[in-house]
Amino acid sequence: MKIAKEFYWEMGHRLPHHKGLCKNLHGHSYKMCVELEGSLDKNNMIIDYFDLTKIVNKIIEPLNHAFLCEETDHIVRDFLINNNFKVYLVPFVSTAENIALHLLKLLKEQLKSYNNIERIKVRLCETNDVYAEASDTI
Ligand SMILES: [Zn+2]
Repeated sequence: MKIAKEFYWEMGHRLPHHKGLCKNLHGHSYKMCVELEGSLDKNNMIIDYFDLTKIVNKIIEPLNHAFLCEETDHIVRDFLINNNFKVYLVPFVSTAENIALHLLKLLKEQLKSYNNIERIKVRLCETNDVYAEASDTI
């Protein structure tokens, strides 16, 4: 059995070493679909949507209207921090693939205690027509 829920937030980023437009400061309306697979618990649910929303919102809140900045991107990092802008520092290039993997890891940690959940899939859409998807066991 599977359940899934979509979540949305706004976030800026850039790919510092990209040869094209992605090196510029820009943002996306991100959409993430979290899919969970497992067996039903005593309440006949994989997880209560309310609990899933609480878990995911806690992860998304620091990202929403923040700039996702690679730690080594000193030009942008220093500008954001020195001017008190909302910044979310990461040790990786902020491709959709890496963001999906990062969110998958954070979600996995939060779902460890749910023994009935076996697999998780995170689909991250940067725009309407592209997505990166990562999945793992819980
Ligand atoms: Zn982008």
